[in-house]
This record gives sequence, C-alpha cells and structure tokens, in this order.
Amino acid sequence: MFRVIFYLLLTVAVISVLKSIVGIFLRGVARAMKASSSAPGARSSNQVPLTGELKKDPVCGTYIAAASSIKETVAGQTIHFCSAQCRDKYVATLAR
Ligand SMILES: [Zn+2]
Repeated sequence: MFRVIFYLLLTVAVISVLKSIVGIFLRGVARAMKASSSAPGARSSNQVPLTGELKKDPVCGTYIAAASSIKETVAGQTIHFCSAQCRDKYVATLAR
C-alpha cells in the first residue's frame, strides 16, 4: 500500500518536473520567436530614436546622444551634430 502511494507521489513529482521543464522550454522558444520576429522591426525602426535622447546629424545622418552632441541653434531650432566638422559644413551651407 505504501508502495502505491510512493509511486503515485513519484509520478506526480516527475510530471511536475517535466511540466516545469516543458514550460521553461516553451518560454525559451517563445522568447526566441519573439526575438527573431522583432529583429527586422528593430532594424527598420533604426531610423527612429527609441529613447528620445538621440538626435540626427543632418549633415552625415548619424544619430548622436543629445548630451554628447555639438549643438547649434539655427533659426530658433537647436540642431545636433556629431562633430564640429559637420556643424561647420551645415553652417557653411546655410551661409551660401
Ligand atoms: Zn556628422
């Protein structure tokens, strides 16, 4: 009689372990699928800064962090540049 109870408990334990393993596995698969499906989206949204802290350099098209960019105020608008060279280029095209 105790053997039957022991085997029942063992079976329940094995099933719960298997369930958790399958759950972890399925979660991993779901995460992998999510990652692979969101990868092209992340690539296409590359042009849109996610944090709002990135600013596009209008000269070379590089995104720079607003904090580390070179700022130039043109016609009341603050424009961010990756380098002083880009800023000078931009200012030069405005002056033309
Ligand atoms: Zn630049």
